[in-house]
Amino acid sequence: MLTSKSEKLFEEAKNYIPGGVNSPVRAFKSVGGTPRFIVKGNGSKIYDVDGNEYIDYIGSWGPHLFGHNPEFITAALLKAIENGTSFGAPTEIEVEMAKLISELVPSIEMVRMVNSGTEATMSAIRAARGFTGREKIIKFEGCYHGHGDFFLIKAGSGALTFGVPTSPGVTKKNAADTLVADFNDINSVKRLVQENQGEIAAIIIEAVVGNMGTVRANDSFIKELRSICTEENIVLIFDEVMTGFRVAKGGAQEILGVQPDLTTFGKIIGGGLPVGAYGGRKEIMQVISPSGPVYQAGTLSGNPLAMNAGFAALNHIKNHPEIYQTLEEKSSYLENGIKEVMKSTGKNFQINRVGSMMTLFFTSEPVADYNAAIKSDTKLYGKFFHEMLNRGIYLPPAQFEAFFVSTAHTKEDLDKTIRAAEESFRSL
Ligand SMILES: *Cc1c(COP(=O)(O)O)cnc(C)c1O
Repeated sequence: MLTSKSEKLFEEAKNYIPGGVNSPVRAFKSVGGTPRFIVKGNGSKIYDVDGNEYIDYIGSWGPHLFGHNPEFITAALLKAIENGTSFGAPTEIEVEMAKLISELVPSIEMVRMVNSGTEATMSAIRAARGFTGREKIIKFEGCYHGHGDFFLIKAGSGALTFGVPTSPGVTKKNAADTLVADFNDINSVKRLVQENQGEIAAIIIEAVVGNMGTVRANDSFIKELRSICTEENIVLIFDEVMTGFRVAKGGAQEILGVQPDLTTFGKIIGGGLPVGAYGGRKEIMQVISPSGPVYQAGTLSGNPLAMNAGFAALNHIKNHPEIYQTLEEKSSYLENGIKEVMKSTGKNFQINRVGSMMTLFFTSEPVADYNAAIKSDTKLYGKFFHEMLNRGIYLPPAQFEAFFVSTAHTKEDLDKTIRAAEESFRSL
């Protein structure tokens, strides 16, 4: 017997949408149970079709730096919609947006807007290949760059130097051009670069990873990675789709003190609408059509609604740089609170945090790379997730994800979360 509206909707959805969802992690597969169908978000809270209220730590998987429905983004959208939703011709707000991104992130000289993070990373790789005339790329095990064919690759076993597809439908030939190195292990990069001398177009990395859970690159690792790319004329791409405007105004590159050649954005730059962008050094970006020969286009790219929402978000960041201090204070309060209740309940799990991104890994060993992350007890995480959900706390429904604190989270929210964590730890 299906008792809740969410359960009924999920059953119905599965008849018409693969797995009932439009993006896999929403289906709760790795934690079990039924996803909640959401009707409304406001500030730090979301509300489901059954009338339940949750303190939200997903924030639509990253975009909602200011919580749900902040007044200044809603106002910008309402104003924009009066003039029409799309023209397929240039608009002033696109120029303003590009200028603002390059003002906030010093490594960006030119930027192209697209519609998702996936599109941004795929296009950045194409630009790097067009610029260098080379075909191979290096990615890191455990980093996620969207669902482009040549990113859905994991390390081959043993003697294989090339990767293998992680999804049916990705060809072996795609995999052959993607080499996979170990995060925070510079020797694994050196080896691949030596074995493929003069053939590597780009190295792409989440310099602060969110997609194996939160893991920060070591300072020496990321500086050496920069040197290798400079020496070998390899385009260094920071995938900041999650970290851009999240961990600092200037993203992971600001806090690590390393400038990539290209950067990809998404999530926060859309202010909650579907947006991505890639940008960086002018001489590379100028290979993009129509200024250069590398083709990349989009019917809705630079869409006026998305640009106005994104511009409102970034302009708020520009005018209120103090929000990162606020986010740091709220996030460290939550981190310390959870650490305390872990101690009092005799749990020894790991918390990794960079600014307002954090992950509670259900393992007792420190996590600095993918191999350490996957030692986590995902079953136990699933149990904890449901204990928290039942107490009105909405965490990501998968162990290897970050939870996000927004400026809208109040001390009361954080205290409630810490109390719920204490009870949940006790019940494990
Ligand atoms: C979310 C994400 C992507 C993919 O963005 P979509 O908008 O979901 O296509 C790419 N890279 C990173 C680091 C991400 O977090």
